[in-house]
Amino acid sequence: NVRVRFCPSPTGNPHVGLVRTALFNWAFARHHGGTLVFRIEDTDAARDSEESYDQLLDSLRWLGLDWDEGPEVGGPHGPYRQSQRMDIYQDVARKLQAGGHAYRCFCTAEELEARREEARKAGRASGYDGACRDLTPERIAEYEAAGRTSIVRFRMPDESITFDDLVRGELTFAPKDVSDYGIVRANGSPLYTLVNPVDDALMEITHVLRGEDLLSSTPRQIALYRALEDVGVGNGGVPEFGHLPYVMGEGNKKLSKRDPESSLNLYRERGFLPGGLLNYLSLLGWSLSEDRDIFSLDEMVAAFEIGDVNANPARFDLKKCEAINATHLRELPVAEFAAACGPWLREPYAPWSPESFDQAAFDALAPLAQTRLTVLSDITQNVDFLFLDEPVTDEKSWQKAMKPGARDVLRSIHSRLAELSGESWQAEPLKEAVLAAGEAHGLKLGKAQAPLRVAVTGRTVGLPLFESLEVLGRERSLLRVDAALA
Ligand code: GLU
Repeated sequence: NVRVRFCPSPTGNPHVGLVRTALFNWAFARHHGGTLVFRIEDTDAARDSEESYDQLLDSLRWLGLDWDEGPEVGGPHGPYRQSQRMDIYQDVARKLQAGGHAYRCFCTAEELEARREEARKAGRASGYDGACRDLTPERIAEYEAAGRTSIVRFRMPDESITFDDLVRGELTFAPKDVSDYGIVRANGSPLYTLVNPVDDALMEITHVLRGEDLLSSTPRQIALYRALEDVGVGNGGVPEFGHLPYVMGEGNKKLSKRDPESSLNLYRERGFLPGGLLNYLSLLGWSLSEDRDIFSLDEMVAAFEIGDVNANPARFDLKKCEAINATHLRELPVAEFAAACGPWLREPYAPWSPESFDQAAFDALAPLAQTRLTVLSDITQNVDFLFLDEPVTDEKSWQKAMKPGARDVLRSIHSRLAELSGESWQAEPLKEAVLAAGEAHGLKLGKAQAPLRVAVTGRTVGLPLFESLEVLGRERSLLRVDAALA
């Protein structure tokens, strides 16, 4: 029975790297009919926040990545917030010390730094040197009397650690590369290094899929699992590990939380579809097949094998992400597309007043918008001419389109359009009229319609013009041309 976990720390805003990890765990669990545990690693009070916790839940819900155990869902291994499990960790830390797997370390930061420096100069490994490994009770009493504080350190076994990474194959870490490490702070609070494997053991996690940045902690954690088994915590066994490749951003540097394109909120605000965004993120290290990069989540679940994940760094490409989203937008039934535009047709995005919104007019243009949008937020400026009293005018386009020659053309267009009755105010006759007016000035349709578009929509690009005029209506359209010529 497959049990995986997604276990972020609630710090800052969710970012795409986090989502990629959640997605791969989710797809793995669903593919195997297993269980996805959602655990909140909030043991660092200085950095964790409730706001970030709320955002994590809200983000996963928005993305449609559901979990089987965790916050709001519950489950047999709760609570699923580490801040509510402190007693458990203290108990385990005591058991590890009693079993000889951990010890109190009194070294001060300055002492550690000085010895590290020395080791570095001598070309020796610069991890912890084991100074407090075997302190006598007398020594400990001395340190305590001197008012020294202590942390708890895990004792690494003096042997190599080998495991078969699900993505990278067999890996071996020599003892000199993995030194004893802290598991409880001087103030008694447990560290990630302890609580993460302890909960994986207690929650019976079978597979750990996480970013490559955590690879160096894996041999330590494997040693800790073995120690946990020895002191009777959890039901024994070490999970399998798979480390997902790095995600590279601009200039071939690792995509960082601070890069603007890594913020999940940006994608929500711009109006990416969850399915489009997840489709793209799945390609950061995985692919469905060589010739298909557009697919649904169900298709991903059906095909997802962790062994197919590529160990090489993946490159984050915003343009490709947008293109994939655009394809997902086009594949929606038009009514769903129109409904999905909803938030961007209202405050705070829409610059028109709620009363001027006209659903029928919007629905008439929605199919045309659907084939042109990359992200849903683009809808606002594509339809604002319908709902604003006066079109938004961009001064530059206006100047460009309203040169003296263009005004003459627009005048001819106006007289031809004015001849059309209300009933014949339809895309096809409108186009004929503009075509004829253009011909009289020796202009092709594209050139002739440019000043008309600016007069009516305020912009030089937008939805197909004649359909736009049809939906805007005869009276409002002619008034706008009048105003432009005044
Ligand atoms: N809380 C850890 C993080 O956010 C989890 C790492 C892991 O998956 O082991 O980095």
